[in-house]
Amino acid sequence: MSTERIAIVTGAARGIGAAVAQRLADDGHAVAVLDLTAESCDATVDSIRAAGGRAIAVGADVSNEEAVSAAFSSIEAELGHPTILINNAGIIRDNFLFKMTTNDWDAVIGVHLRGAFLMSKAAQKYMTKQGFGRIVNMSSSSALGNRGQANYAAAKAGIQGFTKTLALELGKFGITVNSIAPGYIQTDMTAATAERLGTPFEQLLDQWASQIPVARVGQPDDISNAVSFFVDDRSGFVSGQILYVAGGPLD
Ligand code: NAP
Repeated sequence: MSTERIAIVTGAARGIGAAVAQRLADDGHAVAVLDLTAESCDATVDSIRAAGGRAIAVGADVSNEEAVSAAFSSIEAELGHPTILINNAGIIRDNFLFKMTTNDWDAVIGVHLRGAFLMSKAAQKYMTKQGFGRIVNMSSSSALGNRGQANYAAAKAGIQGFTKTLALELGKFGITVNSIAPGYIQTDMTAATAERLGTPFEQLLDQWASQIPVARVGQPDDISNAVSFFVDDRSGFVSGQILYVAGGPLD
């Protein structure tokens, strides 16, 4: 059993982030459920509280420095000093390179990379003081390259370098930094991909499943289980790792 900690999960209104927030609460942690608006977090917070857990809703755009700073102030005031951070918030703005707008490039790099940077920089102050911290950054199998996702693939590959560098810098303070690279997980984000491709979602899920060794697409809980492992007190010797959670090997 892990010691009770204060955890922050970004992009936790739905999808993978909501499942991670619920799992960390089930593991005994108090959770700041953070997404673009506090209202959008209510369902996740209600479900954690209904199961007997402790959670608050926090509205912030992770790519906005002032919003991040305000979010940390309210988390500190309402829950205490955070020592677990899951950088999960994400967006896609897919297009082939020749059609990709500069705004779509900047938006994706902004949420994933600038967002993870701002959140981690703010969180490490609390973690270094306590001599304990766990950061998990959400990468993607797209980091290996994916047609139509130059912005997203660059951001997700960047997350991997960011993870390894933070692991090197923060290890001596008792802080581990790891990354999870999910494969195809059934969420609103993959539903949006189906819409872009003009393929019915169920059909696309079947297509993907037929290419995955375990013969199914992933579910948000497949990812939350990996997060739970990385943030556990007993995982203190696991740092700087990129774990592909994709139903089979990827290279
Ligand atoms: P999702 O269902 O789209 O959820 C992402 C959440 O992040 C949404 O609630 C979204 O809010 C929020 N968000 C977006 N921009 C934000 C910002 N600037 N500040 C705070 N919150 C923000 O996505 P998901 O599928 O659960 O994905 C979660 C993470 O896993 C992402 O980093 C994604 O890239 C990664 N991932 C997903 C898959 C997959 O197959 N689903 C595979 C590999 C990696 P709004 O709804 O208001 O936009």
